[in-house]
Amino acid sequence: MCKVEKLQMLYEGKAKKVYKTHAVDQYIVEYKDDATAFNGEKKGTIVNKGIVNNQMSAMLFRLLKEMGIDNHYIETLSDREMLVKAVKILPVEVIVRNVAAGSMAKRLGVQEGKTLKIPVLEFCYKSDELGDPLINDDHVEVLELATKKEISKIKSYAMKINEILCEYFFMKNLKLIDFKLEFGLFEGEVILADEISPDTCRLWDVDTNEKLDKDRFRRDLGNVEESYQEVLRRLKN
Ligand code: UDP
Repeated sequence: MCKVEKLQMLYEGKAKKVYKTHAVDQYIVEYKDDATAFNGEKKGTIVNKGIVNNQMSAMLFRLLKEMGIDNHYIETLSDREMLVKAVKILPVEVIVRNVAAGSMAKRLGVQEGKTLKIPVLEFCYKSDELGDPLINDDHVEVLELATKKEISKIKSYAMKINEILCEYFFMKNLKLIDFKLEFGLFEGEVILADEISPDTCRLWDVDTNEKLDKDRFRRDLGNVEESYQEVLRRLKN
């Protein structure tokens, strides 16, 4: 099979570039080593992060597909590139939390590390200008970010994904604290898109609670590269 060719760049985000291909319904996603935090205020590089995030996302998208979660992944093309379905991303970040951390711990005064009685689902409006504000289902509907039917599908997908990933990560001695998902429309249907990586998930070691995710970069905890590699190593075991 001949390698799929990258055509012009469609979009460059903080961590990925998206390219058109000869097929109108397929894009190539290229994962970069660039890291940002706090709405772009903190910038840096995490060496080989793009390779880890590409491989980890591919593994998890394949797992989720097997478990009935439709997603944009088609195939891996190289160390840093995957072929995906050309979705139209919905401008909503979907966050699922199992343990209080990050912005939730801060906003609500809950101790970081406190296990939540039930998984908490949050929506944020994807807008750099507004700083990705927290919104609810009604906001999603009135701002026309997604329809009622799409919201309901996103919520049930997010909860199922949480169950699958929690169990999977636990087998790898990792606790899934929280994570962010993005969904897109493909042929009129909502499917999972974007990435699932230590950039978008908080992952703590089950025994020691050591942080093995982007918080190492956000909070200057050191061993950033090593932690990304460690997560990938565990997933491959
Ligand atoms: N997250 C993300 N992109 C964002 C915001 C959050 O991937 O733009 C992820 C983050 O890595 C964490 C979860 O979503 O796993 C919840 O993040 P939180 O709201 O606590 O925000 P943060 O502390 O990252 O500002």
